[in-house]
Amino acid sequence: MTSQLGDRLADVRDRIADAARRSGRPASDITTIVVTKFQPIELVRELRELGVQDFGENRHQEAREKAALVPDVRWHFVGQLQGKKARQVRSYASVIHSIDRLSLVDALDVPGEQPIDCFLQINLTDDPDRGGAAPADAPALAEAIAAAPGLHLLGVMAVAPLGEEPRRAFARLRGIAETVRTVAPSATALSAGMSGDFEDAIAEGATHLRIGTAITGSRPARA
Ligand SMILES: *Cc1c(COP(=O)(O)O)cnc(C)c1O
Repeated sequence: MTSQLGDRLADVRDRIADAARRSGRPASDITTIVVTKFQPIELVRELRELGVQDFGENRHQEAREKAALVPDVRWHFVGQLQGKKARQVRSYASVIHSIDRLSLVDALDVPGEQPIDCFLQINLTDDPDRGGAAPADAPALAEAIAAAPGLHLLGVMAVAPLGEEPRRAFARLRGIAETVRTVAPSATALSAGMSGDFEDAIAEGATHLRIGTAITGSRPARA
């Protein structure tokens, strides 16, 4: 079990290094977040033993429980965020990838506390019910985040839509990121790329990959 996990992790790391090399980028520019949603805490511990320092979760309650059990790593919150839970997520997460509306900026901006690293999530689909801000709203939201003393904007995040070539979607994201940088110059990071498309994301400049099943194996059915 553990050796299979180690093999998959090593394989993904090799593929990341290859993709970075093909793009002429240093692999050290790229942070790999292992998404452990629905996975047992034992798997998190095994991955930590294998040297993983960055973990991703998408549901508050599960994330909070895991962060309490394994506190000595960085927890990335990558799921849709409810306004009334936002402050609680702030207490255990090192990075929040899913700010997508002004009310969340207000909920998460706690002046006087250490600013929390965050991403502005962009919706690359035409479906407004998907997480993420519409691309047209991105500059104003980025400005609001950059102006919030309790937040530190790292960059933009997105999930590639189903039914579109991921590389094309990530190229659009890259363009949106450039627009965001005209109002928030320090927002240089790009959170993009999952198990099925991380090489495309690297080719379009991803700095933070969120990889689940390619490393963990398939997810248990949700409880
Ligand atoms: C589940 C999830 C991932 C990882 O997905 P895999 O296909 O298992 O790599 C990445 N990002 C978000 C936002 C997720 O919810």
